[in-house]
Amino acid sequence: EKAADLLYRVRITSGIEVSSFISGVHVSVTYRSQRDPPETTVDSFEPKTGRLLAKVTCSREETVRDAVEAAKAAFPAWSKTTRAQRSQHLQRVAQLIQEHAELFAVWESIDQGKTIERARVEVERAVANFSYFSTYILHEQTTSRMVDGVAITYEHRSPAGLFALISPWNMPLYLLTWKIAPCLAFGCTAVAKPSEATSMTAFLLTRIFELAHLPPGVINIIFGDGQTGDALVRAKGINGISFTGSTSTGVAIRRATVENISKKLSLELGGKNPTVVFADAMSSAYRVRSISIAAMAAFENAGQICLCGSRIYVEKSVYADFLRQFVKHVTKRYTLRKRVGAVASREHYNKIRGYLQMAADQGATFELGGVPPELAHSAAELMGNNEAADDDDNDPLADGYWIAPTILTNVKEDSDLQRHEIFGPVVTVTPFSGGEDEAIRLANDSDYGLAAVLLTADGARTQRVGEQLDAGLVWVNSWLVRELGTPFGGMKQSGIGREGGDYSRDTFTNVRTIHLPLLYA
Ligand code: NAD
Repeated sequence: EKAADLLYRVRITSGIEVSSFISGVHVSVTYRSQRDPPETTVDSFEPKTGRLLAKVTCSREETVRDAVEAAKAAFPAWSKTTRAQRSQHLQRVAQLIQEHAELFAVWESIDQGKTIERARVEVERAVANFSYFSTYILHEQTTSRMVDGVAITYEHRSPAGLFALISPWNMPLYLLTWKIAPCLAFGCTAVAKPSEATSMTAFLLTRIFELAHLPPGVINIIFGDGQTGDALVRAKGINGISFTGSTSTGVAIRRATVENISKKLSLELGGKNPTVVFADAMSSAYRVRSISIAAMAAFENAGQICLCGSRIYVEKSVYADFLRQFVKHVTKRYTLRKRVGAVASREHYNKIRGYLQMAADQGATFELGGVPPELAHSAAELMGNNEAADDDDNDPLADGYWIAPTILTNVKEDSDLQRHEIFGPVVTVTPFSGGEDEAIRLANDSDYGLAAVLLTADGARTQRVGEQLDAGLVWVNSWLVRELGTPFGGMKQSGIGREGGDYSRDTFTNVRTIHLPLLYA
C-alpha cells in the first residue's frame, strides 16, 4: 500500500508529470513526461529474475531544457534562503527517507539486484548524506588572515548556481543523494539524473521532495539514458556538473564542456583498486581480520563498488596460506543470493562473463567460480513474455544475472584482467616478493588511482607505504569506513576533484577574498 501510495502519480517539482500504473503483485512503472513521445523509453530489467521491471522515459532536449529553466528560475530565491532554512529542509528530507527506509531498501534491492541487507545499509547512508550536510552548513567555518597587521582578509562563499548531477547504477540512492544533499545545502539548485538502469529509488525520491515541501524547481529529477545525460551536460545555463560513473563517460563530459572554462566539474570515476597483504598481516593475531577485510573489499555489493579491491597482492612467504584461507572464507561467507546479489544488468552480466571467458582463454586458474553460463532467454523474449522466467523447471531465477564470487590466480600483470575495471564479483590474487618497493610498484601499476587497502601489523609501514600509494583513499586494516567530511575522490584516471565536507563546499560555491583594511587613512 505504501508503495502504491508513493508510486502513483507523482509530480516532479519542476512541473514535469510522471505517472505510474500498478498491476498485480509485480509493480510496473512507466515514467512519462508529458512532452516526451512515448517511444523514447529504455527497458529496465529486474536483475534477480531478468524480468522487465520498468520502461523509463528518456527525457530529450525539450524536457531537459524545461528542467534547467525551472532550476534557473528557482535559484535566486533559494540561494538567498538562510542556512538555518536550508538545514531544516534537508533535515526534513532525511526524516522522510528514514520513515520510508524499508520501502526504499526493497525497491533498491529489486531494481539493482543487491541483497536487501546491502540496500538497507545504503538507505541509511542516504539519510546520513542529508543529515550530515544539514548540520555542516550550520557550523561552517570561514578562514580569515591578518595582512601585515594592517588588514584582514576573509573568504566569502556564495552558491555557484545551477548544477547537473549525474549518477551511476551501482549504489543508486546513496550516490544520487551524495550529490543532491550538498548541492542544496550550499544554496545551489539542480537537475539530477539517475542511471537508466536503476531509476526506481530516484523516482521515489521525487515524492519525498514533494512531501518535504521543497520549493518548486529547486531540485528537478529527470530520467533517461546517456543521450539525456549528454543533453543535460550541454544545456545552456548549467554552472557546474557533478558526475559519478565510468571513466569513459567522464572523458565524454570533459570533452563536451572543454570550451566553457567557468563550468565547474567534479568527476568521480572508475577504479581498479589494489589490496596489499604483507606477511605480518597473516600472523595468528591478525589473519582472520585480514582475510575478512580482503574478502569484504572484493565482494561487497557483488564487487560493484568503485572502491572494491579487485587486485590482491600477497607477500610470497604467506601466499599459499592466504589463498587457502581466502578461498575457504569466501566459499563459506559469500554465498550467491544470500550474501552476493545479482549483477545490475544483462549488459553488465555479459561484460563480466566476457572477462571470465578471457581468463579461461589466457590459462588463468579459477580458485573459485568459473565462466558463468550464457543467459537462458534473450531480453526480447522476456519482454514479450514475462512468464518465460517461470518456465524454467529447475531454477525460477535462471534468467537472473547471477555470477558467483570468482577468485583468479596466474593472471599476467599486463592482462586486461589486471588492468580493466571488471566491476563484478571477480578478484585476482598475485604473489609478490621484493618487499615494500615491489608492493608499491605493483599497486601503482594502474591507470586508476581511487582506493587501496593495506593489510599489515607494522605501524611504521602503514605510513611508509600508505603515503606512496597512488590512491585518493588508503584504508589500513579496514575498508569502506568513511566520515563524510574526509576528502573523497581519485587520482589519475579515477577523477577530478574531491567530495565531502569542505571539499563539497568547494564544488558548490564560488569563493571570493574580501580584503578589509584595519586602519583607514
Ligand atoms: P556510466 O558512465 O555508464 O553512467 C553513469 C551515468 O552517466 C548514467 O546516469 C548514464 O546515463 C550517464 N551518461 C552516460 N553517457 C553520458 C554522457 N555522454 N553524458 C552525460 N551522462 C552520461 O557508469 P555506470 O556504468 O552507470 O557506473 C559504473 C561506473 O561508475 C564504474 O566505472 C564505477 O567505478 C563508477 N563509479 C565511481 C564512483 C566514484 O565515486 N569514483 C562511485 C560509483 C561508481
